[in-house]
Amino acid sequence: MSDKIIDGKLVSEKIRNVIKEKAQRIQKEFSRVPGLAAVLVGEDPASQIYVRNKRRSCEDVGIYSEEHKLSESTTQDELLSLIDKLNNDNKINGILVQLPLPSHINESLVLNSVSPEKDVDGFHPINAGYLFEGQPKFIPCTPHGIIKMLEFYNVEIEGKNAVVLGRSNIVGKPAAILLLQKNATVTICHSRTRNLNEVLKNADIIVAAIGKAHFVKKEMVKEGAVIIDVGINRLENGKLAGDVDFDGVREVCSLITPVPGGVGPMTITMLLWNTLKSLEESIG
Ligand code: NDP
Repeated sequence: MSDKIIDGKLVSEKIRNVIKEKAQRIQKEFSRVPGLAAVLVGEDPASQIYVRNKRRSCEDVGIYSEEHKLSESTTQDELLSLIDKLNNDNKINGILVQLPLPSHINESLVLNSVSPEKDVDGFHPINAGYLFEGQPKFIPCTPHGIIKMLEFYNVEIEGKNAVVLGRSNIVGKPAAILLLQKNATVTICHSRTRNLNEVLKNADIIVAAIGKAHFVKKEMVKEGAVIIDVGINRLENGKLAGDVDFDGVREVCSLITPVPGGVGPMTITMLLWNTLKSLEESIG
């Protein structure tokens, strides 16, 4: 049944090869290298792993990367002044502020202080606005990766019923907007949605992004649906699991992303993509 798998690593590799080639060409023609700065405040272990993975991925495609690891006690002003410095640093095309931030720091104030031209996560309200209008500049990486995977596997989106489970600003909402722009009929579900099972059962495409292990079960899924599992949940046995009950659902769906190896690698890849795009736009 491996033919049902949407292989995020494979799609990632193809896109990373394109990024690498483009970066090499820019270096030859303009003597410029794309640069990404990751800012990490505190000791959150998962964040440390993400940042390390991002650094390795940058190296693989020829993107310069730097990490700014700040202690948990860093003040908001200190963080804002670092971001200001990075906003004005010519080697840096993309700035990523790793979330979550410690509770004494105002997250949206910090995200809004990143220059929209270097906002490779696509979280700045200006970039969210462009996306909403259908003129995106930087698309948030996870939803962007989802669309790239659907396109790679020739999944028809137009006219299909797409259900997005979850309405966060970083995954659910932008995923819904992108699917809408591809002419799907989109339903966004959340914790207050009634008759969730009925809504899901009618979906041709399901994007599950709620952070609840194995939430979507075989009985909720229509025969032949395409399933994108964004969730990353740590089980008691230490293993990772998605928001979808993979073993059950794969019996009825037509395509499904595994966890790990589906959406995860695509998120980092689209971050690299946005960093390259930022440099391309600054060159003109
Ligand atoms: P949030 O916690 O910000 O949002 C979760 C959403 O799920 C909310 O909108 C919430 O509804 C909804 N929800 C929660 N419980 C239910 C329920 N029982 N029924 C219906 N809806 C529900 O999560 P994120 O969007 O940040 O992340 C979602 C998952 O994706 C997490 O597991 C996260 O780790 C993972 N993730 C993975 C990435 C990757 O690269 N693979 C990248 C980013 C996230 P309400 O708004 O009503 O509270």
